Amino acid sequence: MIVAERPHNEPGRLAELRALDVLDTLPEQGYDDITFLASQICATPIALVSLIDDDRQWFKSRVGLETEETHRDLAFCAHAILEPEDVLVVPDAARDERFAANPLVTGDPNIRFYAGAPLMSSSGNALGTLCVIDRVPRELTEDQQTALRALSRQVMAQLDLRRLVRDLESSVRERDTYQSLLEDYQRQLEESLASATARSLTDPLTGVNNRRAFEERLAEELQRNRRSGTTLSLALIDVDHFKSYNDTLGHSAGDAALERLAATLVDTSRSTDFVARYGGEEFAVLLPNTDAEGGYILAERFRKAVECAQWPHRAMTVSIGVATSAAAIAPDELITTADEALYRAKERGRNRVVAA
Ligand code: GH3
Ligand code: MG
Ligand code: MG
Repeated sequence: MIVAERPHNEPGRLAELRALDVLDTLPEQGYDDITFLASQICATPIALVSLIDDDRQWFKSRVGLETEETHRDLAFCAHAILEPEDVLVVPDAARDERFAANPLVTGDPNIRFYAGAPLMSSSGNALGTLCVIDRVPRELTEDQQTALRALSRQVMAQLDLRRLVRDLESSVRERDTYQSLLEDYQRQLEESLASATARSLTDPLTGVNNRRAFEERLAEELQRNRRSGTTLSLALIDVDHFKSYNDTLGHSAGDAALERLAATLVDTSRSTDFVARYGGEEFAVLLPNTDAEGGYILAERFRKAVECAQWPHRAMTVSIGVATSAAAIAPDELITTADEALYRAKERGRNRVVAA
């Protein structure tokens, strides 16, 4: 027996075969139809699609044979791929020095006749063969050889299709990866935009809305008022004698007091109210759907809450001016009216509410 040498392009050939990912896969109708036709046309009991792996031949499709693979050293097909352009025909293996001592000839399945058409890839690698086998010596007609060649090209077309599908699947996977990366990136951008927007509308010391947020909301609420005919009240709240609080206890104590004051106002307000730091020690609370009487009652509630809160160093009080919107009032007008009421509250002795 003569063992076939390796083709000159063996590493590239094996790489191409492995890339197909076809070895050890389940039988497929496309290949089985071709081996069936080959055995019919050539009138042989056995037909195989044999792929030559590193140290074995593995059958992607087989008619008339139970074995799934044999050692490469025994493979007739390992000889066939050395001449990829030709069909290898062995009329009587028992009389051929390459195969006479081959266990596949001397024993089961008792090969006598073999014809194999190499499976040539477009890059010139012979990956295996489509072969037909008989247990008696014989020949193939020219037409049968031509048909075997044609069918081997069909096997190669099946393998090319497989490669195409795999490439397509991997492109789709790659695209999905990029898409999900892009979506992550977009989500991050949206989050940082949302947090930047929130920061730009929040007072850093007290955590309540800043003046800009207040002005935006006031304009919105007045517009809503105009559409729905509801009433909006505004409470302007100013700390009494805060300068002396700062002067005696220091600026940080003053800051801490402002934080606590903001928290007190938030705790005392309704969920629909809008608490904002309007300026240094001045806060504004928008009171939607609230008429003048309701505005006064709520402002009194704020004033009492501040008066009764536990202050660490000394008592703190606020004066509050309340304005209520009539139809079609401008934002500035509402603020000025509340400011005038606040001024009167200061004038009348502080720690009190004056409604305009
Ligand atoms: P009034 O009862 O008339 O309102 O007296 P007042 O002392 O509160 O009024 P004034 O406007 O003279 O003083 C406000 C003080 O608020 C002055 C300023 O030092 C203080 N202030 C403003 N912003 C801050 C701040 O962010 N932190 C601290 N600690 N103090 C502030
Ligand atoms: Mg002030
Ligand atoms: Mg003040």
